[in-house]
Amino acid sequence: MTTTLIQLAYLVAAVLFIFGLRGLSSPKTAPRGNSLAALGMLFAIVATLLAQDVVSYGVVIAGLVVGGAAGAVVALKVEMTAMPQMVALLNGFGGAASALVASAEVVTNAASGTAPTGVVPIAIVLSVLIGSVTLTGSLIAFAELQELMGGQPVQYPMQQVSNALIAAVCVVLCVVLAIDPLNQELFLVLAGLSLVLGVLLVIPIGGADMPVVISLLNSYSGLAACAAGFVLDNSALVISGSLVGASGLILTKIMCDAMNRSLGNVLFGAFGAQVEQTAIGAGGAAQGNVIAYTPTDAAVIFSSARSVIIVPGYGMAVAQAQHAVRDLADTLVEQGIEVNFAIHPVAGRMPGHMNVLLAEADVPYDRLVEMDEINPSFPETDVALVLGANDVVNPAAREDETSPIYGMPILEVDKAQHVFVIKRSMNPGFAGIQNPLFFKDNTMMVFGDAKKVMIELNDQVKNY
Ligand code: NDP
Repeated sequence: MTTTLIQLAYLVAAVLFIFGLRGLSSPKTAPRGNSLAALGMLFAIVATLLAQDVVSYGVVIAGLVVGGAAGAVVALKVEMTAMPQMVALLNGFGGAASALVASAEVVTNAASGTAPTGVVPIAIVLSVLIGSVTLTGSLIAFAELQELMGGQPVQYPMQQVSNALIAAVCVVLCVVLAIDPLNQELFLVLAGLSLVLGVLLVIPIGGADMPVVISLLNSYSGLAACAAGFVLDNSALVISGSLVGASGLILTKIMCDAMNRSLGNVLFGAFGAQVEQTAIGAGGAAQGNVIAYTPTDAAVIFSSARSVIIVPGYGMAVAQAQHAVRDLADTLVEQGIEVNFAIHPVAGRMPGHMNVLLAEADVPYDRLVEMDEINPSFPETDVALVLGANDVVNPAAREDETSPIYGMPILEVDKAQHVFVIKRSMNPGFAGIQNPLFFKDNTMMVFGDAKKVMIELNDQVKNY
């Protein structure tokens, strides 16, 4: 295949990636977007395989079989709740691949004694630095989410100063290696230090903040791939790496905004540790009386309602209650009640967590309403059903200036006529703080596992 045709195929692939990403911006067009991006990847892979400098098809096929089989087994087995750690691992492997590509280039150059020219020496060191940080950072994120490590931030004296020093040494090594690209010993030092830096940058971040870190590491893996694209002079890799880098950064910003926290606070604020202290002071004590209902009592109020807004949260994911809540919504709709689902941008533990679960249970997309759009409807709503959500409905974010989540945009369920909160106990959510919603006069707590309560409630509502 001629170089022009290969470049043309890469261009087609890049266009398909961009349309694919655009499609992913809405649940309705997401499956099409996914297929377009996959088609783009097929174009890019076929064009690369037809390029003259692919030396051994045997090795390529062996890699395809081993990697494809491992990927298929893991993807089929992974639980929906374990998706964030799966993404963490995949990011890490992406970073490792870019670092290995650049390392292979260093070894080849050193063997032939020919120093790379132009942007290539800079691309090599960046690929190794960012790729290695992504690998070990992602492995720590995986270990925290998989609960192989404690979820608490690891802190020690002079932590940020020592991390900054190591990062500065890495930058100096990058500059030296860009000038002297055949120095293999120094290159090994850079790779080793970058691997250590990845660990040190992620351990001070609490397990609960890992989804934001994963999104950022996803962006890093894109940047590493982009640098590897310059090393290999492969435009498809440069473009796709830049797209991943930019979209990962945008997603990171969206998540930070939705939590009303800066990226600096997520990366250096050791949120889990702060919260523990706050919870003892502010959140631990009860704030009044709680009204507890059974599903049977609750069914009476549901049966006389005209409108219901369901607010899912992390607890729905833990209980895998998405099918049971869809059944309840169907029953309510059959009885002439208007039902919508309110989606907070950071409900759950990963972006789009609730959308994915509800789509899996075949809840129609037009019933899922974003926070800004649905908030004005709560005062006219008869029942708000909070299903395993906590922080995203906490009115302290609006009312209590001393709260760690003050200023975080929330779903204003407390303004509905009646609020039912389904959870197992009075335990706090991710932010570790108590929720004044539970003590409001119009709030009724139904204690129990989300799925079990949904099934019982549905059975009771059907009787009316
Ligand atoms: P929360 O973590 O605030 O609350 C979840 C609630 O679910 C808990 O209070 C828990 O109470 C309840 N729960 C757990 N298991 C069950 C079960 N089996 N049945 C019923 N209830 C259950 O979740 P939210 O979704 O409200 O908020 C998400 C939080 O995560 C926010 O603070 C957000 O900032 C944070 N976050 C989200 C990210 C994202 O990308 N989505 C990224 C990073 C952070 P109990 O134990 O009593 O049952």
